[in-house]
Amino acid sequence: MNYSLIKLPLFHFSVCLALTACGSSSPTSVSLQSSHHYASGVQTIESFDQRYGLINSTVVDKYFGELLVRLDPVNKGGGYKVKIVRTEQPIAWSPGGGFICLSTGLIKNLQSESEIAFVLAHEVAHYELNHLGKKNEASVDSFERDADALGLKKISAAGYTPASALSSILRMHTLDTAAVKLATNVHHYPSIQERLRSLSVLIKQIPSQLGIQDRREFQKMRQMMQ
Ligand SMILES: [Zn+2]
Repeated sequence: MNYSLIKLPLFHFSVCLALTACGSSSPTSVSLQSSHHYASGVQTIESFDQRYGLINSTVVDKYFGELLVRLDPVNKGGGYKVKIVRTEQPIAWSPGGGFICLSTGLIKNLQSESEIAFVLAHEVAHYELNHLGKKNEASVDSFERDADALGLKKISAAGYTPASALSSILRMHTLDTAAVKLATNVHHYPSIQERLRSLSVLIKQIPSQLGIQDRREFQKMRQMMQ
């Protein structure tokens, strides 16, 4: 979900297309930091910090740390580092080195912890599937579909409502229609309809579950996005 990147300078776009880091299916913080994509991840974070500013909050850090552990309890969250960028543009981006950038605009628009969990799980999936390492081997289209599928699997296993994958994508769509059109037409991202269709087929195969309700921490975290 890197639609907003098309509004950023070309430098950002080229880094963003690369998407993620090298690593095994269960990367650790050590392997993420030693990855040769770590430097580009750091560079992207610094660029975002200079351009928009980052949220500096222990409440936010704790929230996303716990959410990552919920998505991957075996690897205690996998060592990823979530950075919140102060912009209304809907950013969800894995620039390398285990960093995951989400924007305040995106988080304010998502309406439940389940929806945020899906966006986060989708970005983690880019890392686990080594999309940065494979950037010359496959299309952005297949990266997005595969990250959606693994993201869905992750939130379902963690106990979140599978259908929140659909609602989170729809909210991104309504938030920035022009950017989404450009991403689809120019940069060959799969269309919203295609993503929803593929996810809907997968969701039908998952036993229905009520899903985890929003925790108090979710509201506290959201308050920090103002
Ligand atoms: Zn993506």
